[in-house]
Amino acid sequence: MILPIIAYGTPVLRKVGLAIDKEYPNLEELISNMKETMVNARGVGLAAPQIGKAIRLFIVDTSPFSDNDELDEEDRKFLETFKRIVINPKIISEEGDEWAFNEGCLSIPNINEDVFRNETLTIAYVDENFKEHTETLSGLAARVVQHEYDHIEGILFTDKLSSLKKRILKKKLENISKGKIDVDYRMKFPKK
Ligand SMILES: [Zn+2]
Repeated sequence: MILPIIAYGTPVLRKVGLAIDKEYPNLEELISNMKETMVNARGVGLAAPQIGKAIRLFIVDTSPFSDNDELDEEDRKFLETFKRIVINPKIISEEGDEWAFNEGCLSIPNINEDVFRNETLTIAYVDENFKEHTETLSGLAARVVQHEYDHIEGILFTDKLSSLKKRILKKKLENISKGKIDVDYRMKFPKK
């Protein structure tokens, strides 16, 4: 089932997510719905707060990046198959030079801005079977995980912009909260 994506300005996007356990109700169905919702909106990641649940869960699927011809063959192959279900993650370290990438967010349609993040990330988490993993990622895979991780900490990519950029975007962000935007997937707006 495709779920409505929660728009910028909704309080749930600002909550620090709670850890979950195996008993979390209908977890399998929730994950399956989140996947469908993400694919439908052509996203590369979706965090639980974006469908209204302040829990520590996000999904990632970078396959839409795999046809980016600015990337080398090896990176493309990796991104084509990089799909993760991440539960109760903890960032172990972030290293390497900060680099800019033009980010967007399904909760903040039609806004794309350069965001600086570290090149490499090491993260510990459990998957949908509560099996433990520790992974070191770099480049775009790290980027998407860093963006989604921020969501479960109540942080949005627009928080990371300069105060000048934030001022410029203020009106646009208000309009998103009011639903005054063109978007071709289902959303739920706080001020509509
Ligand atoms: Zn996002």
